[in-house]
Amino acid sequence: MFRKSLLDFSWLPWAVGGSLCNRRPATRATCDCEESERQRVLVVGAGLTGCLVSNLLRRQGPPGLEIEVWERATYPSGRFGATFSFEKKPLRNGGRSDGTGNWVDLGAQVLSAVEVGSGHPNAGATGHNVSASDVAACWREVQGMVDEGLLERVPEEMLAETEERMKYEGLWAHFWCRWGLGYLLRRYISQASAHLRLGVRAEAIAFERGGQVTVRGSARGCGGASSMQAQADVVILAVPAPDAVKVVQLPRHVANTISGIEYDSRTAVAIFFDPVLQEPVARAFQGLAEVSLDIHSKEEVHLVSWQNAKDKSFAHGDIVRLVVHSAEGVSLNGPGPALEALSVMLGLSAALLEHLLLDWKVVDWKVCQMVRPFESLQTDLELELSEPALRVSGSPIILAGDYWCQSSFLGCFCSASAAVRQALASLRRCPPETSSRRNTCSTDGHL
Ligand SMILES: Cc1cc2nc3c(=O)[nH]c(=O)nc-3n(C[C@H](O)[C@H](O)[C@H](O)COP(=O)(O)OP(=O)(O)OC[C@H]3O[C@@H](n4cnc5c(N)ncnc54)[C@H](O)[C@@H]3O)c2cc1C
Repeated sequence: MFRKSLLDFSWLPWAVGGSLCNRRPATRATCDCEESERQRVLVVGAGLTGCLVSNLLRRQGPPGLEIEVWERATYPSGRFGATFSFEKKPLRNGGRSDGTGNWVDLGAQVLSAVEVGSGHPNAGATGHNVSASDVAACWREVQGMVDEGLLERVPEEMLAETEERMKYEGLWAHFWCRWGLGYLLRRYISQASAHLRLGVRAEAIAFERGGQVTVRGSARGCGGASSMQAQADVVILAVPAPDAVKVVQLPRHVANTISGIEYDSRTAVAIFFDPVLQEPVARAFQGLAEVSLDIHSKEEVHLVSWQNAKDKSFAHGDIVRLVVHSAEGVSLNGPGPALEALSVMLGLSAALLEHLLLDWKVVDWKVCQMVRPFESLQTDLELELSEPALRVSGSPIILAGDYWCQSSFLGCFCSASAAVRQALASLRRCPPETSSRRNTCSTDGHL
């Protein structure tokens, strides 16, 4: 059973989607204040890793720990939680969408974790830079969300056979969230009681030995750009590898290693069609949730995923929600190629599809999933790294993210768990009485 209260994020109405204007501002107008003496962790990035880090810190950290999260986007999203929603619009058939429930997952289509206890010889084993205990904890986390009615396991045969989908005879299990994967991130952050600052980009992180970490950045708001500065006892940088090297000065061998991590790139095109297309779309998918178009060829369009399958919204009048994914390395500028591919798939003219198109959005994932992960690099960093997160030597700055192990929920969970262990060890070394910090921000662009 799905409980209504699970959908209540009244604390976050200003944080989900849209611009920051007309919503609660992401930054205080001006402030220059002595902060309390409580210990503080600043998390940069509210993607899956950052949201998990915040949540695990709240669960495992000391009482009263301050958790602040800076996210440059307008809602907690990243590659896992990116969502696009259909706005209220009149439909061609005279009906009207109220905008609710009409979302698509624009990044990850499913939550993937290793099924511990499945009988597969590698299920729950240590390897690929993750420990058996973290893999097991991840599986318990997923099972907890299933028990709460947040996740539903996807029958594997409903998912397309693609080169990046991890189908290894029962090793992985894949799940949907009937409100979209972004819902899980909002929930993680909500439960963490973290101070979430949206539209805030971290630009430089510095640490002076014996002192605190200072993070500088900029905030986008209704009144224009403003500079931000915050101090924290520990900073966890939960951003992709190319972003991490931009904001923190790393020892050369660490920077070189991280720069060697490579990701593929793809485009996702969200397509909303008038409900009259429900029948032909259902016929084309034949009970599947994904159709792979280029498995044996090099077409521009790779995969089409049917979002209505995730929340079973097949009722008369339900808008048809599709996401068309490009082939690796292909960048689509608009909905044109997606409509052409759908025209072939559905056996309908592209002109008719264009006529029935209600809304669309293109997201170009320049950083998508890893094709050259950390473990494939030849580096002496392995000697320093026993876990999928790295504490920058001599500082309480911790690098976390899927790039240390795996582009998946499992990879992010294991990295977040490791980062939290390192953060808590660092906080124990630095008792609260010794910390004194200032938080400043100004709207005139100068600190
Ligand atoms: C197309 C696609 C398909 C996928 N399929 C699956 C799948 O089937 N199953 C699965 O489990 N996983 C899948 N994944 C992988 C999964 O989504 C990623 O592993 C995961 O989202 C990585 O999370 P992250 O938090 O480490 O990084 P990100 O999601 O990239 O989050 C980083 C966040 O940091 C923010 N940020 C960056 N720089 C700054 C800065 N300077 N200041 C402030 N904020 C900053 C970004 O805006 C972003 O929100 C897929 C991903 C993609 C893109």
